[in-house]
Parts: sequence; structure tokens; C-alpha cells
Amino acid sequence: MKTILVLGGGWGGLTAAHTLRGLVPGDYRIAVIEKRQSFIFYPSFLPVIIGEKVNLDYVESPLKKLLRKDIEIINEDVIRINPETKTVYTNAQTIPCDFLIIATGAELHPDTIPGFNEFCLNLYDTKGAFDIHQKLKNFNKGKIAFLVTRTPFRCPPAPYEAALLTEWFMREKGVRQDVEISIYSPEKQPMPVAGQQIGEAFNQLLKAHHINYYPEHSVTKIEGSSNKILFSPKESSGTNNTETSYDLLIGVPPHGAPRSIVDSGLTDSTGYIPVHPQTMQILENTDELTTRYPGVFAIGDITAIRLLNGALLPKGGVFAEEQAHVVARNIVSEIKGEKISAVFNGKGICYVDVGDGLAAEGSGDFYAYPAPYVKLEAPSKEGRKAKHEFERLFEIWFTK
Ligand SMILES: Cc1cc2nc3c(=O)[nH]c(=O)nc-3n(C[C@H](O)[C@H](O)[C@H](O)COP(=O)(O)OP(=O)(O)OC[C@H]3O[C@@H](n4cnc5c(N)ncnc54)[C@H](O)[C@@H]3O)c2cc1C
Repeated sequence: MKTILVLGGGWGGLTAAHTLRGLVPGDYRIAVIEKRQSFIFYPSFLPVIIGEKVNLDYVESPLKKLLRKDIEIINEDVIRINPETKTVYTNAQTIPCDFLIIATGAELHPDTIPGFNEFCLNLYDTKGAFDIHQKLKNFNKGKIAFLVTRTPFRCPPAPYEAALLTEWFMREKGVRQDVEISIYSPEKQPMPVAGQQIGEAFNQLLKAHHINYYPEHSVTKIEGSSNKILFSPKESSGTNNTETSYDLLIGVPPHGAPRSIVDSGLTDSTGYIPVHPQTMQILENTDELTTRYPGVFAIGDITAIRLLNGALLPKGGVFAEEQAHVVARNIVSEIKGEKISAVFNGKGICYVDVGDGLAAEGSGDFYAYPAPYVKLEAPSKEGRKAKHEFERLFEIWFTK
């Protein structure tokens, strides 16, 4: 029996496994290796922090419930991959395969910022999201700081959305006048990959909601005993170290490729796996776009795709999903002995929550020449409705 292995049962991996199962012959074994027991739908963290979703079921669900019975789940930890021989080593066994899709996502490394684990609520994990809601419910006076620690991180608008939703939540509670909200980020502007205009649109949104924004602030340490965040000197102005104080600290931890991927020698200087922008095959040469390891692909947050303006494609589920479709279709072509023809086009849509029951639709063509073309519509009720439908994806996946 031939085997297609998918490493990682997240947004990209599950889409790839499902798409493939619908397309390849039944005598192909499709197996997903995932170390967790459950799938996490990250977009649900935002409604969780303001109490719109109170149940864990909206955020996580057992993989067994989600996957078709004819897709195998291997609940193990991938330790190493040999892409030459298409062999995967887990904590329990060695599995050779005929096609391999690497969809392990990015990992969180909060421990690399001194004080993060002890003093900062983690916006990017399930426990953190529920803890943030409890703290916000009881917070009536003082300084709330949102901290982006390092780039790149998944879903670049998310910390800005979290700050805007928090602002709305405080207004609804009637305590907004006693609460100061600030965002600190190493980025030069919000969503730098999307260009200056989009950065300005975000700045305007923050200004309109009286949220302070401090770009080019790269944290070195969180001193919980004195409620302080310490930053390294600003690159552009050559200023000295700066610091700020907070009463409640909410952060996005540093991201990185999982150890297994680094140990397999698959990453480059970006820290992620360089892939062909259209086919998601692993690149041998990033300038000439020559590929290596036939039959091996990488999709989603684990990949690095260099755009025409030099930035990397943002880490987003919509991209992981579309890349999964492309790879699945091309694997089917290869099985049938046909030429591969599906290509990923770098386009995607997202909905940016701004509070007050409104969301702004953002659409991007990230492969546009000479730089990504991104459009942000005015916030609207329709945008929020569309975001709500998008969030229902999770429920739909589980009830199908
Ligand atoms: C707050 C928030 C809001 C977001 N909102 C949006 C949104 O509105 N729209 C959007 O498009 N994107 C959004 N995203 C981003 C989106 O969730 C990610 O881009 C997406 O999940 C990436 O999919 P992936 O399959 O590449 O990785 P993941 O979904 O992270 O899945 C990777 C899987 O691989 C597993 N894994 C890793 N290492 C191993 C190993 N060694 N062995 C076995 N298994 C392993 C992990 O456990 C994980 O389950 C949001 C993210 C956050 C944090």
C-alpha cells in the first residue's frame, strides 16, 4: 500500500488530508502525525478574550471527531525527517512514505523572553485566551499593555484586533476613562508587509479608539516585580534603552520552527522552510527557485515565501488552506502520471475585528508586482457578519 504522510494536524495539515482523501484512490493510506490530541482553531481566541465565546469546545476539539474514518491519526511527536528517503522518525516508530506534506506550523517560544511565562498573559494559547478574559472582566482601572515580542508571528493583525476589542469591552463596562491601552511592537508600523497605506489605516483606527501605539519597541525583559517592560535601544533613532510600566500585560510570544524541522536541516536563514511560491516544493536555491526532494512539500506557517518587496508572506490560515488544496491536487496529478498544474496565487481575505460589532474586510494579492497589493474596507456590520460566518468554519468542520 502506498502512503501519504501529513505532518501536523492543524489548519493546513487537516485540509490537505481531507482534500487528498476525496481525490486519491482508496488503496493509498493517508496518515496525519500530530502530537496533540485536539485541533485548535486560533481565530476563536479573539472572541474568547471578550467573553463572546465561553466554551472550550469553540476553540478546541478532539482530532478523532474531526477526521474522516478513512484518514489515520498517529498521535506521536515527529522527531526528525529524512527528506531524501521520505522517511519520518517519531518518538515511537520510523515511517517511510511515498509523498510527504510538512504542515507543522510555527511553535511558540515564550521562554526566550525573560519574564514572559511568569508575568505576561499569552494571547496565542488557549489557556492564555481564557485567562485574559477573566482578568479583563475584573480590570477597571490602570494600564493594559499589548506586547508583540518578535516578528514574524502568525496572523499579523491579531494583536491590533485584540487591543481594539479590549477597548470596546472596557467601554461596554463603563470604565474606559480609567483604562489606558497601549501596544508595543518591534514592527515599524502595523502589518508592514501590506505597505504604508495599510499601516496608516491601522494607525488611524488605533488613534480613533485612543489606543497608544509604540512601534520599533523590541522587548528584552519583563520585570514582574516592578511591573516593567524593558526594551532594547531603537534602531532608527539610536536612543538608549527604554522601559514602560503596566498593570495588565498581554503578549504575543516569539515564534519559531519546531525543533524537529530545524534538526532535519530544512530551514534557512529565515528560520523557516523556503518553498516554491506556487507549488510549495522545497527550494534548493531561493534566487533561482530550483526545487529539491521530489514528492516532499511544506505548507502553512512553517514555510518562508519571499515576496517581491523582500518581505515574507504573512502566516495565515487562509494561505495554509489554499496551499493544502494546491499540493493535494498536484499529488493527485503525479499519481495519475499527469503534469502538475495547480498553483498557489498568494491571494487571501481576512476580516479585522475593530469592536462595536464591526469588522473591516482586508483582501490581499501578495504576489502583486512590484509589491503586495492589500485593500482594507471601512469597518462594517457586514464585515462582522462575514467574520462570524468564517468563525463558524470550525463548527461546520466538526459537524460534517
Ligand atoms: C489569535 C489568532 C487569530 C487568527 N486569525 C486568523 C484569521 O482570522 N484568518 C487566518 O487566515 N488565520 C488566522 N490565524 C492564523 C492561523 O491560525 C495560522 O496561520 C494557521 O493555524 C496555520 O496553519 P498550519 O497548519 O500551518 O499550522 P497550525 O495550525 O499551527 O498546525 C500545526 C500543527 O502541527 C503540530 N506539530 C508541530 N510540531 C509537531 C511535531 N514535531 N510532531 C507532531 N505534530 C507537530 C502542532 O501541534 C499543530 O497542531 C490566527 C492566529 C491567531 C493566533
